[in-house]
Amino acid sequence: MTDGFVGYRSQLVETLQGKGVRDMAVLRAVATIPRHLFVPDPLRHQAYDDVALPIGNGQTISQPYVQARSCELMRLTGRERVLEIGTGSGYQTALLSMLAESVFSIERIADLARHAHEVIRALGLDNITIMHGDGSLGWRPNSPYDAIVVAAASPAIPQPLVEQLAPGGRLVIPVGPRDAQVLTLVTRHREDTGYESTPVHDVRFVPLLGQFGFAGTG
Ligand code: SAM
Repeated sequence: MTDGFVGYRSQLVETLQGKGVRDMAVLRAVATIPRHLFVPDPLRHQAYDDVALPIGNGQTISQPYVQARSCELMRLTGRERVLEIGTGSGYQTALLSMLAESVFSIERIADLARHAHEVIRALGLDNITIMHGDGSLGWRPNSPYDAIVVAAASPAIPQPLVEQLAPGGRLVIPVGPRDAQVLTLVTRHREDTGYESTPVHDVRFVPLLGQFGFAGTG
């Protein structure tokens, strides 16, 4: 995409490479998707800093490094069906649209889901379907998913999400209490419904609220 932010995106790609992101498809997506369109106007000058930013409704667009690393952990080849929980601004949804065949994304705050949908439609990304609802339940009718990414902190690994993974599928999710979590890679076994879980690194996300997340409204 040609706009006044190309240089900023290149700098962000260099920052992510410096932090160890190696997946070229992920780096290409970061170099392409106009992150400034996903942040509120007054914060556009910070859109390509490697920081989380507020997006309204008490929510955030996550730090680019964490988003890129989460995408990388899913090891996408372009042929996958992916489920994202926590659409937020829709930026990571847009990255995923360049990395997978189809992307389903769920957001519990209607305003955010609507706004993300508008930005994504304006960009012409046509392999994304966004739903307003409780993503801790997954989205069973479209399952199984080759990969699932959760962009909010969960007290534990939600069982419905593991059930909706395809054999060998990968789930990336921050797990832990509200104030600190560990980004965790869950890989479903090919031969049965069991899974392995690997801690990747410390993170801090807003809470996943809902039936298989934290109780409450904020
Ligand atoms: N990846 C997003 C982006 O690129 O902007 C950032 C997501 S933000 C850190 C987490 C989002 O998860 C918030 O928008 C929040 O409303 C949403 N969320 C929390 N619990 C949810 C649930 N049960 N189902 C769907 N979305 C949920």
